[in-house]
Amino acid sequence: MKPKRPRTAAERKQRLAAILERLNKLFPDVTCALHHSNAWELLVATILSAQCTDQRVNMVTPGLFRKYPTIRDFAIVPQEELARDIHSTGFFNNKAKSIIGAARKILADFNGEIPQDIDRLLTVPGAARKTANVVLGTAFGIASGVVVDTHVHRIARRLDLTSADDPVNIERDLMKILPRDRWILFSHQIIHHGRNLCNARKPVCGECPLNDLCYAKDKTA
Ligand code: SF4
Repeated sequence: MKPKRPRTAAERKQRLAAILERLNKLFPDVTCALHHSNAWELLVATILSAQCTDQRVNMVTPGLFRKYPTIRDFAIVPQEELARDIHSTGFFNNKAKSIIGAARKILADFNGEIPQDIDRLLTVPGAARKTANVVLGTAFGIASGVVVDTHVHRIARRLDLTSADDPVNIERDLMKILPRDRWILFSHQIIHHGRNLCNARKPVCGECPLNDLCYAKDKTA
C-alpha cells in the first residue's frame, strides 16, 4: 500500500520532521567525502568532482597538492600541464582553466584567502552555487544554501520535497522548508543515502527507513 500524502501544512511539517529524524539516525556524523586539509583544497577537489566520482578525485588530489602546495603554484602552472595532471577526472581542459582562474582571482582580489560569503565566492571561476555551498558549508560551517548535486536533485524529488527540476529552484524549495541549521547536514545525509540505498537506477526501497514516508513513482517492491 502506498503511503498517504500529507494534506495540510501541519501534516507536511510532521512528515518532514520524521524524514529529518530518520536521516539523523541513519547518518549521524556524515560529512563531505572529498579529502582536503583546507578550504582551497576543498575548492579544487569540488571543481574536479564535476562529472567524476569522489573516489577518483581522492586518488588524484594527494599527488596534485604535493606538486602544487600553494595557491600561487596553481596560479602560475601552464594550463596544459595542469590538464595533464588532472586528466583522469574528465573535462580536464575546463577544470584546469577554472582552477587556474580561481587561484589567480583569489590572489588578486581576496589576498590569497577563500572568501567566506557566497556573493564574493561566486565571483571565483569554477565556483558556481553548488561548489560555493560545499566550500562554505564544509570548510567554514557557514550555511549559505543547500548543496544540490545529482543525489539531492533526485531524492528531494522522490521524497516530494520539491517539484522543481533544476538545481536553482530545488535549492530554493529546500531552503524554504528546511531549518537553516540543517542545510549543511541534510545534503551530506542525502548524498550518502543516494550512494547507499536510494540510487538512481534501482533504489533499494525494501531496506529504506524512509519507505513508509516515501511515495516516489519509481519505488521498488
Ligand atoms: S523508499 Fe526508495 S525511493 Fe523512497 S527514499 Fe527510500 S530508497 Fe528512495
